[in-house]
Amino acid sequence: MNPLEGHLRARIARQGPLSVEQFMEDALGHPEFGYYMTRDPFGGHGDFTTAPEVSQIFGELIGAWLASVWQAMGGPSPIQLIELGPGRGTLMADALRAVCGVRGLPDAIRVALVETSPVLRRRQEQTLRESGIGSIDWYNDVSQVPAGTSLIVANEFFDALPVRQYVAHRGNWVERRIDTDPNGGGLAFVLDHKPAKPHLPPPGVSPTRDGDILESSPAGLRCMHTIAARLAEFGGAGLVIDYGHATTAVGDTLQAVRGHRYARVLDAPGEQDLTVHVDFAQLARVAMEAGATVHGPVSQAAFLSRLGIDIRLQRLLANARDDDAAAGLVAGARRLIDAKQMGELFKVMAVAGPGVGEPAGFAG
Ligand code: SAH
Repeated sequence: MNPLEGHLRARIARQGPLSVEQFMEDALGHPEFGYYMTRDPFGGHGDFTTAPEVSQIFGELIGAWLASVWQAMGGPSPIQLIELGPGRGTLMADALRAVCGVRGLPDAIRVALVETSPVLRRRQEQTLRESGIGSIDWYNDVSQVPAGTSLIVANEFFDALPVRQYVAHRGNWVERRIDTDPNGGGLAFVLDHKPAKPHLPPPGVSPTRDGDILESSPAGLRCMHTIAARLAEFGGAGLVIDYGHATTAVGDTLQAVRGHRYARVLDAPGEQDLTVHVDFAQLARVAMEAGATVHGPVSQAAFLSRLGIDIRLQRLLANARDDDAAAGLVAGARRLIDAKQMGELFKVMAVAGPGVGEPAGFAG
């Protein structure tokens, strides 16, 4: 039993079975043993790879998108550039490089990084030291970021936020929980005895077929509400990029990954990544309720193609060092947009305040 499982078992002994949300909070974010708090999980030797780590073009095109929104807004200064869950800081570094030629923008930008992991904060600081941007601040939660006109990016951030899961049981939604396994060691899923309070599961799907699972992320919805309310009040726009579905549907999407392979969700808490598919419909509803405009979601393939991934690739190929470097550039770009790789499962949604119009990448 690892130390986090010991902690979880003690918590269950004290307070009864944990919600999936409580389990995820500890597995990912426990200050001492949580997955993200203790490691840099990215890359070939880590557990998983993300789009900015696959190709520099990803962050560069996002930089181009941010610059086009800033220009559409009339070039406000200062402008806060907020990234949620910046990982190694690669996306931000690539985006900042892409915007450095846009007149007035580099001087206007104040970077705000929302990151809970001390290990990854250090990594981001190293990555961005060379960026030439004077002002970079870190926050634990988006609600702590000072108010103001903002451009916001969140790539594979919402999928890391804890969800509650509800199971259809005799016409009601019943919360799925985690208990110590009575048949030996480890943890096991159990069902609540009582139906969930009526307002708890998100509206949209009924508990018609026993065993169906519906997910909702209170932390994700809270975060989206904060962002959208700020964009509506102070102006700006944000991009949410993640794997997930455009409409609310039933399904157990909680998954564990370790060393680039799927693992059992309840095994070795804190030592493997846990994610869920993002429910863009729920995020969009909260964003609109908070007064923001929503565009998309569109597939990552469509978004990056409209932003000119082919042109950017050709330009990089023209300057490639050698054949190996060129092959790497082509493979990286293809992985981002190939329908069987990241192109279709990953989706992009924009949230905007007043005066932004239809942002690049969404029309067509
Ligand atoms: N955007 C990066 C990293 C994605 S992994 C990329 O595309 O490579 C998720 C990131 O979110 C990590 O940086 C992780 O430490 C951070 N994170 C996870 N939960 C968080 C939370 N509740 N608050 C702030 N950051 C969080």
